Amino acid sequence: MQTIKADIVIIGSGVGGSAVAHQLAGSGTRILMLERGDFLPNEPQNSDAEAVFLQERYKTRDEWQDASGARYRPGQYYYVGGHTKFYGTAMFRFRAQDFQASTIDGSPSPAWPVSYDELAPYYAEAERLYGVRGQSGIDQTEPPRDTFPHAPIPHEPTIGRLAKRLSAQGLHPFPMPSAVDFGGGGSCQRCGTCDAFACRVSAKGDAEARVLRPLLAQPDLQLERHAQVTRLIADDQGHRIIAAEFRRDGLITRVEAPLFVLSAGAINSALILLRSACAAAPDGLANRSGVVGRYLMNHHLTGLMAINPLARNETKFPKTLSVNDFYNGLPGDSNARGNIQMLGKIQGAMIRATYPTMPRVLADWLGRHSVDVLAMSEDTPEADSRVRLLPDDRVEVDYRPGGTHAHDRFVRHVRGVLRRAGFPVVLRHGFGIRAPSHQCGTVRMGDDPATSALDTMCRAHDHPNLYVVDAGFFPSSAALNPALTIAAQALRVGAHLREMHSRLSQLA
Ligand SMILES: Cc1cc2nc3c(=O)[nH]c(=O)nc-3n(C[C@H](O)[C@H](O)[C@H](O)COP(=O)(O)OP(=O)(O)OC[C@H]3O[C@@H](n4cnc5c(N)ncnc54)[C@H](O)[C@@H]3O)c2cc1C
Repeated sequence: MQTIKADIVIIGSGVGGSAVAHQLAGSGTRILMLERGDFLPNEPQNSDAEAVFLQERYKTRDEWQDASGARYRPGQYYYVGGHTKFYGTAMFRFRAQDFQASTIDGSPSPAWPVSYDELAPYYAEAERLYGVRGQSGIDQTEPPRDTFPHAPIPHEPTIGRLAKRLSAQGLHPFPMPSAVDFGGGGSCQRCGTCDAFACRVSAKGDAEARVLRPLLAQPDLQLERHAQVTRLIADDQGHRIIAAEFRRDGLITRVEAPLFVLSAGAINSALILLRSACAAAPDGLANRSGVVGRYLMNHHLTGLMAINPLARNETKFPKTLSVNDFYNGLPGDSNARGNIQMLGKIQGAMIRATYPTMPRVLADWLGRHSVDVLAMSEDTPEADSRVRLLPDDRVEVDYRPGGTHAHDRFVRHVRGVLRRAGFPVVLRHGFGIRAPSHQCGTVRMGDDPATSALDTMCRAHDHPNLYVVDAGFFPSSAALNPALTIAAQALRVGAHLREMHSRLSQLA
């Protein structure tokens, strides 16, 4: 077995891993980033709905299983840049109250050990890094903030009309914060494929294009692709992490370092920790509390296709509008709450991928006539909602969402809002856990080592040299897209590590 050495090993090149690399690159620390995937190829299929949705060209070939044992290929994408290569560019800050404890229909949503105010400067840095566009001062749930780094993306006509009709109902639609290089001199071509597709011209603000690629010229950052980390190895006392092992082309390589940053995505990071069980940590690393793999959340995500049979929707980039009037609850029902935002334009091929028996002509007609909206509610963390490692390295995702009924009430209300906005037919579709796009919570942080795996700096309570910076650290899911919050907290952790490293170098 080959052994290599580094000062810091970062596992995973998604939002979390690349933010830490951003903070540390150039500091003279030898950073080794281990990424399971490769660069996503730039090819015509990137923006071809048949290739992406029907042929599932980019989805992993791995299989997971649900609690009944049914096996499936999860909607997981393993590339440099992680899931942001396919994400929808919505870059929201969580609201100040999202960091505080609450309940939904009696299910608790715990407080974060970090406040909005502590994260605010890192949110600002993350917005600059990703080139987020937006407009402050309209959404009443917005936390204190400066202006956005870039002006918002203007509505196309259909979305502009929807905004007016929502305003006429007394709502306050606002420009959705979005990380797209749009506007004077911008590279976005409004190709019509963005959310759930890869961008061929790097206009999408993804972790590879915006964060990692500029760092790769730094001599102290080395990116190893096709390097799938199988486990971490602790010392005999189960205290310090001494090595990681990765597999490439059937060969195992051992990497030794004084510091490890795990950021393989919420589900995969939990799996790596569970796979790393040893005599001193029989339930897996960072898991004295028993929480690793538990509290899996994914948001309640319901797609609503609002259809006016008499009007075609020619919009190319619809993701310019959001509504937070019900973020703190419906009138008379404070538990039924969430965010409303636009989805990327739904196409016939996407509908056929989910409903294979639907005639092509009908799916294409629906795709041409729908205005596509996402209703998102908080998924409260449940201890029994979990990912497990079964014999023969089989992965079980036993997902038990919290707050389902409250979300249903919210969706019912949103459908009414859309009908009143001029769409007589509003079809609904729930996005389930088989495509765990907003997965989080499986390596939760907290102040109490008995009930959490990580401290407020995402450092493992059990291991002084292990940090976990992907969405696994979320104690609760809020009701807004996760990527900006992952980036902000990972930038905060990276700044802490940079300072620690500089203090150690001065002492040496
Ligand atoms: C279709 C889609 C649309 C989305 N839209 C939005 C949106 O509009 N706004 C938003 O905020 N969020 C969105 N999300 C969610 C967002 O993309 C994720 O929350 C975010 O990218 C997660 O970042 P991460 O760093 O936690 O993990 P990941 O992005 O999963 O990164 C983990 C990295 O680790 C690598 N890896 C995994 N296992 C191993 C291993 N064993 N060894 C080495 N490397 C490994 C992976 O290949 C990957 O590069 C969307 C997601 C999807 C799928």
